[in-house]
Amino acid sequence: MNSPRLTENLLLSGLSAAARLRLTGDRPPVTLALSEILSEAGARIRHVYFPIDGFISLITPAQGRGQLEIGLVGNEGMLGVPLLLGINVSPLRAMVQGPGRAWRVDAASMQQELAANPGLRAALNRYLYVFLAQLMQTATCTRFHLIEARLARWLLMTRDRAHSNQFHITHEFLALMLGVRRVGVTSAASALQRRKLIRYRRGDISVLDVRGLERAACDCYGIDKKIYARTLGRKHRESGTATTGATLLASRIVSSIACEAPCTVQGTFPSADLGDRPLLS
Ligand SMILES: [Zn+2]
Repeated sequence: MNSPRLTENLLLSGLSAAARLRLTGDRPPVTLALSEILSEAGARIRHVYFPIDGFISLITPAQGRGQLEIGLVGNEGMLGVPLLLGINVSPLRAMVQGPGRAWRVDAASMQQELAANPGLRAALNRYLYVFLAQLMQTATCTRFHLIEARLARWLLMTRDRAHSNQFHITHEFLALMLGVRRVGVTSAASALQRRKLIRYRRGDISVLDVRGLERAACDCYGIDKKIYARTLGRKHRESGTATTGATLLASRIVSSIACEAPCTVQGTFPSADLGDRPLLS
């Protein structure tokens, strides 16, 4: 059964009315269309998005060898985390995977509010930590876990952000999730279907057995959820993020996820300049 339509983004819902007004004004949410590109890798960030009932795929800019989805942003998060680190360029492509609504804030307003509001900064830094943890987990997942278990994980993550057991997801997106060719997608989806965990017809997915799908998924799904609950599921506190180190760490994580040896480092990331310096010093 579908959940009632959501009315809020969880990060914005924790703000004071005054801070909220400075960010979104009295403008209505924008509509996110399926497959809409919200930012390209290497492009300047012009807007930050806080999804309400739409959700967004974050895709590596791997060139020539396909792409890989490495993160999902729904109403638990925001698109545009580099701004939290003082960086106004997106390292990833962002594509709408679930149509719906989102609050849109222009980058300048966001940066002004971040500078003036340490409470907001601390709150969003906590989300940044969760976001980085999701990237790290995806690096492990992509390297070590079986396709069927990885597909179960991504379907559960998508279900959480769609807030529904039924959602539409194209074959292209499934291939992006897994970083494999279509035949691999078909095989993994068929296996989950034979186990009566999902039904998949022309992109329409129905999750038939949530608990069964959780058992079929790799541990990454549960680990992500625990980190989220531990970090954002209670009152925020100051986090004191080391932004420079975090920037380098995020870049290296994203590069390593997309990399399949032999790998040429993508120009979008500053990884080539890292040398042997410690990531967090
Ligand atoms: Zn995994």
